[in-house]
Amino acid sequence: MATYKLVAIFRNPTNNHEFLLVKQTPPPKYDDQEYDSYADSHLWDLPSAKLVSLSPEVDSSNQIVLQGEEVCLPKLNLRKFDLHSALGEVLGQVGFGTVSVAEWKFLKLVEEPNFGPGFPIETVYITGDLVPSVGTLKDNCQWSCSESCFNLLLQVNPGGDRLGPLVEYPPGVNIIPMGSRTQKPYHTTNMIVFAPRNNHVEYGSNPFVAQGDAMIVDPGCRSEFNEELAEIVAALPRKLIVFVTHHHRDHVDGLSTVQKSNPDACLLVHENTMARIRKGDWSLGYTKVSGTEEICIGGERLRIIFAPGHTDGHLALLHVSTNSLIVGDHCVGQGSAILDINAGGNMSDYFQTTYKFMDLSPNVLISMHGRVNLWPKHMLCGYLKNRRNREHTILKAIEAGSNTLFDIVAYTYADVDRSLWVLAASNVRLHVDHLAHQKKLPKKFCVRKFQLTCTVHFFSRWMWAYFKGSIGQTHFNFQTAMLLGAVTASGVAILYSVGNTLRSR
Ligand SMILES: [Zn+2]
Ligand SMILES: [Zn+2]
Repeated sequence: MATYKLVAIFRNPTNNHEFLLVKQTPPPKYDDQEYDSYADSHLWDLPSAKLVSLSPEVDSSNQIVLQGEEVCLPKLNLRKFDLHSALGEVLGQVGFGTVSVAEWKFLKLVEEPNFGPGFPIETVYITGDLVPSVGTLKDNCQWSCSESCFNLLLQVNPGGDRLGPLVEYPPGVNIIPMGSRTQKPYHTTNMIVFAPRNNHVEYGSNPFVAQGDAMIVDPGCRSEFNEELAEIVAALPRKLIVFVTHHHRDHVDGLSTVQKSNPDACLLVHENTMARIRKGDWSLGYTKVSGTEEICIGGERLRIIFAPGHTDGHLALLHVSTNSLIVGDHCVGQGSAILDINAGGNMSDYFQTTYKFMDLSPNVLISMHGRVNLWPKHMLCGYLKNRRNREHTILKAIEAGSNTLFDIVAYTYADVDRSLWVLAASNVRLHVDHLAHQKKLPKKFCVRKFQLTCTVHFFSRWMWAYFKGSIGQTHFNFQTAMLLGAVTASGVAILYSVGNTLRSR
């Protein structure tokens, strides 16, 4: 299964090398002065529209004919799609209202890798020559050419105009979703393979912590994909840098395969992460980095950025010339990232790192789960807003008299399935720490007493609430009481296993 998109390359009728770009509509504002002050810069891309299937009873013989569409046929029968509506939409974006404008030619079909959790997108590129007299170009359009697009892609100024992925993005960076032991709704971890094809640039002095001809980031695939990983590594230059954003299994599971395929590879890692990587994963030498260094890959600069929050050794990586930010697990393609309380996850750090990322005005965010995000500041503000809202509810619970972990979780997550309260509990603990750090907690709230309620006390009450919720109070009997007692006693064991689950994210 897939979803489909039509992209039109409108060529300039007065010359042969220009094509139309459309300014993309940003996501809706948050209606909040602080978040709306962090606006992403203009994003230009080729005009595009969703391509929907025709219902079987529609006569497809009236469809627009694309020259060369038979080339696409082995993979996709374009006659089954409503080209008429999609073309009408892209023409409308540039200011032309009719479809009978040009001769349309099929150019290529691009199949997106399966990032999940939704279906991958298949994109049909077509070309058309506009007739100048039939419409007026809208203000949100501009003519561009391959050369200026290429220059803009290779040298992005923070806060300057940006180009979207339909033109081509990001040059030299391959994002390969590999099957991994990650958490739902994802089933893959993006492994970044960076192998620039540019000529080497010589830097006068050597300011770099490491230099290589290629780099891979977060080889975290499951063992059944080791062969594929070994092939990728074998095809890369020998002088290989391996970079891991953090220690979770879905980011380091493939390290031993990388090491076997290329024993000369050099691992760059934060010391807190290295302390959690097993000897079986990496036994060769490594270089400790703290997040202030730069790397040089094939003559291109990448800046390492200390980005704690998800864990205390978490690192991000900025590709300097394209201003693309690899964010590890700080963000995920959809939903919010969980902070690992057992590996130094910290809410204050998370907020600080988020602001640090926004100050970089990145061109795109490349997270390790899901698609590339093209509205970085909007996404980062969304995280801040959601977490602040949650924190506000937690503070309300405390002000209303809740002073144990269970009571705060029950208040804050009242509308969430109780089976998820254990995960929610770690989040609440991190928020309470953050509130204490900001000195926002009411005087009557004792953090030390609260912390005493975070293990057995929480689990016994959670078990009680969980079973009460699932069997109903009227059926409660002696046997259930015995069962509850047994389960409560194993609360600490569950705490341990939840910790392990989190550590594997
Ligand atoms: Zn992950
Ligand atoms: Zn993680």
